[in-house]
Amino acid sequence: MEAHHHAHAAFHLTGRLADEHLTAIEGHGLVPALFSGYRDLTELRYDYPLVLVEAPIEGRFVESLSGVMDEVLAHVAGGSNEDRIRMHVLRLESGVRALVATGATIMLSEAWETVAKELATIDDGIADSLAYARMFLAVDGMLVDCGQSTASQVLTHAWNVAYAGRAASFADTMARLTVGLVEILEADFENSAEARSAENLKASFGSGPMDQFDFDAMSRILTDARPPMTLPGSRRHRIEQLVEVLRSQQFYADPATGGAAPYSFVFHHCVDALAAFRDRLTAAVEVTKALAVGSLEVSGLYDEAKHDQLFASFGETGLDPSDLALFPDYLVLLNVADMTAEELEQLSQVLSSGLPFKVLVQTDDVIEPAAIGEGISALALASHRLTSMAMGLGDVYVLQTTSSHVLRVRDEVTGSLAHHGPALISVFSGTGAEAPGIPPYLVSSAALEARVFPQFVYDPSAGADWASRFSVADNPQAEADWPIHEFCYEDAQNQSVCEKVPFTLVDFVSFDRRYVGHFADVPVDAWSPALVNVDAIVGRSSRADVDQLPCLLMAADDGTLHKVIVDESVIREARRCRSMWSSIQELGGIHNSHADRLLAAAEAEWQANMQEQLAAMMPAAVVAVETTEIVDGRAEAEPSPAEADSAPESTRNPDEPYIETPRCSTCNECTQINGKMFAYNENQQAYIADLKAGTYAQLVEAAESCQVSVIHPGKPWDANEPGLEDLLKRAEVFI
Ligand code: SF4
Repeated sequence: MEAHHHAHAAFHLTGRLADEHLTAIEGHGLVPALFSGYRDLTELRYDYPLVLVEAPIEGRFVESLSGVMDEVLAHVAGGSNEDRIRMHVLRLESGVRALVATGATIMLSEAWETVAKELATIDDGIADSLAYARMFLAVDGMLVDCGQSTASQVLTHAWNVAYAGRAASFADTMARLTVGLVEILEADFENSAEARSAENLKASFGSGPMDQFDFDAMSRILTDARPPMTLPGSRRHRIEQLVEVLRSQQFYADPATGGAAPYSFVFHHCVDALAAFRDRLTAAVEVTKALAVGSLEVSGLYDEAKHDQLFASFGETGLDPSDLALFPDYLVLLNVADMTAEELEQLSQVLSSGLPFKVLVQTDDVIEPAAIGEGISALALASHRLTSMAMGLGDVYVLQTTSSHVLRVRDEVTGSLAHHGPALISVFSGTGAEAPGIPPYLVSSAALEARVFPQFVYDPSAGADWASRFSVADNPQAEADWPIHEFCYEDAQNQSVCEKVPFTLVDFVSFDRRYVGHFADVPVDAWSPALVNVDAIVGRSSRADVDQLPCLLMAADDGTLHKVIVDESVIREARRCRSMWSSIQELGGIHNSHADRLLAAAEAEWQANMQEQLAAMMPAAVVAVETTEIVDGRAEAEPSPAEADSAPESTRNPDEPYIETPRCSTCNECTQINGKMFAYNENQQAYIADLKAGTYAQLVEAAESCQVSVIHPGKPWDANEPGLEDLLKRAEVFI
């Protein structure tokens, strides 16, 4: 076993396969064990395919096929044939999912008919069930699978929905104003001499016995009865101009007049979007002015003496966000892979403009070429830079997610389009990974789980501070370094074994061809307790020793379980990834070091005040005892080890090891290192059960592994323990 361990350690440190104790994983089709239940997605009910809803209700512009089918099933629930219909509807759903997976571009209603027809050839009963269930299909829309164009399809659809909403409201305002303005002009004409002329009266008489009417006499009578009163020339001219501006605008199609073709607002380069915005700015100012002046005219409030001058300079300094909100936003669809330095520069101009540009930046591959040297990758660096830059600007709505989670950020997508300023939507599609056989849905979902491409939203309109604006709450197990999942399998003795398995960056890169050389398969007969979950090693601040080696559970096509050792370069990447995630967590208010520091200071101050007050009230001899009782709420009994670990810090001897038990997140790190030294209390939070059951080295290692830094190693108790000088240095940061 020792020979095995040496070979394993050598691979971990060098990445070189030196002997027969390990084999390369290339070509074995291994995937992270946690993927093993997701090999055929068409068999599963999950978020895809999506339905781009044609007539959204309450802003729900996208739904999952499963969600739509669940609503259908809710209508048939309780009926006499519920079970049969449910089974048939689920078969139809599975058929539709398989149809979309073939690449079909199809509406839900069409797909329903197609699959229902196929199923009806198998069984007449299915046709009846589906015909009945079809009556409850309340929505329709294009079906979209998870792939290269998903993000742009979903965002464009959301933009179209927002456009339709603004177009309807604009058309309403336009119709009201133009009708009012035209009525003023028509009334003016009715009062004019021209309208009462004999020729005009004759022309307006239509067909009939013309020779029986004296139109000249009629004209005289009408003119004498009420002398002509026309609008002042300046007003008439102004109103005619307003009607002209409103009718000729090209921001929205005008179904009433036909009018000129509307502008396009969807672009694939920032420079084009910027140019279009500049070219249309004068027209936008004219329309905005026409709406404002038109309202005053229709309500009879326009006062030339006051308003002429005011509106003469209108728009010279651009338009307010509230004015711009009348018009469609500019949608720009970009892909990181195509972005030149020039495009990046234009993107920063777009985002810093404060104008309503909504920019999708799609990333297909997060493993970017190493710029410095082999073994140093930059995972998702481009998107990280872009989102950081955008958030730094302060007024940009920033949303980052992956294709797999697009449905779950539906409200945030709507929020980004409703935001009055610029928005950046960064999406990882998962289509660029070199992972044959693994669908983009799984790749993109894995990037989110592994914190490689975390999900977050920064909404400048949500408040004035980061706590209000920034959220990472929708990431899986956002409080933890890595999400932990239970994984159950049968061991060599056919016994069922369940383990808590973390999903880390190491899992994410393990199925990409570019990383196969960083992993080595350990034969079953060489499995040993020294092979530990990757997160235990990543949790250490740096390389310590090689008594334990990072190992990943992977599954082969035939379902067999493998343990693979990971080389150190990948562990370093995982540490960088965890560190980046910690920074993002802090921004989102999770494990915020500033808040923790303030809290500790406030606690210390409270303790000190309490001491002072008691000292003033009691004889000195009893103060210390009473303080402890009051602070801890304990009586005279000796504290248990668990209680001792939760005692307030100010009462502690800094040389004594202890755990801040109430802050323990039950991550198992310390208990895995030494299950006797560390134990859980009734709240499943760790305390030091028996210090002498382990070494100071284990205590320091546990402190380094602790995800929430609540283990304080204090000073060693055995002066003869080897390596104390180094251990004390490592322990310094946890005082
Ligand atoms: S004390 Fe730290 S290492 Fe131990 S279980 Fe709690 S959080 Fe994990």
